[in-house]
Amino acid sequence: MLSFPEAFSLRGEVALITGGGTGIGFAMAQAMHAAGARVVLVGRREAELTAAVAKLGERAHAFAHDVTDFAAADGLVARVASEVGPISCLVNNAGIHLKKPAVETTTEEFQKVLNTHILGAHALTRAVAPGMMARKHGTILFTGSMASIFGIPLVIAYTAAKTAMVGMAKAYSTEFAAHGMRVNCIAPGWIETEMSRKALDGDPARKAKIFGRTPMGGMGQPEDIGWAAVYLASPAAKFVTGVTLPVDGGASVGF
Ligand code: NDP
Repeated sequence: MLSFPEAFSLRGEVALITGGGTGIGFAMAQAMHAAGARVVLVGRREAELTAAVAKLGERAHAFAHDVTDFAAADGLVARVASEVGPISCLVNNAGIHLKKPAVETTTEEFQKVLNTHILGAHALTRAVAPGMMARKHGTILFTGSMASIFGIPLVIAYTAAKTAMVGMAKAYSTEFAAHGMRVNCIAPGWIETEMSRKALDGDPARKAKIFGRTPMGGMGQPEDIGWAAVYLASPAAKFVTGVTLPVDGGASVGF
């Protein structure tokens, strides 16, 4: 049996986290870094990434990259391998929100959400997977949502993306298991970040509904998702694959 520190250690791992410069992604980077991993933060805004890396110190790296530039995924993975080391954990966390009535959601807007959450995640997964297969070692995580689990009005494209992640985690997990890889999804409840502030500010009715169905009350903190990511990426979860883990103060089972 592994010792307690060994079970939760990410020492020797290289974790690439998309959207790692802010909010939930940064908290996952902080927690994985604290568990010993070398972390690679990816996003479009250089200034956010530089500031985030400065907060983490050693074993933290930033690469500006747009996940919707699918053709650039292989190049990013190759650069990270040569400058930092081969990626052993990929966190598909980058996301954008779109709150508007379904009938007003244009095809272009819908496509942009899918490109960021789903096709961006697939492009990177496809780029890192061959290396993980060759080394027979790798974990992949997705950041899902409560929209992965139940119906929420005014977020049709976001819901299509977040429910797709649940299926992708299952499908990848079965295809990659024989190669020593695990794939899981975390479904955060409502967590205090820039994204949730923008989605909820000025909408007291939606806020009241959220708090009313969250048995633990209030909103979660980004670090609540960070520690769940450490668990799922660590040897402690070595027999866990294909699951979606809600981290939501009970919102997904609340009455
Ligand atoms: P943030 O807005 O802080 O994080 C979104 C991150 O995604 C940013 O760092 C952003 O960086 C990055 N990003 C967006 N588009 C791209 C792109 N095309 N290429 C690369 N990076 C991109 O909000 P959160 O931390 O809340 O969101 C993180 C994830 O958590 C998202 O997937 C979100 O859907 C999910 N989530 C959030 C919940 C919440 O309550 N906050 C609840 C459930 C899920 P940049 O703009 O610099 O590119």
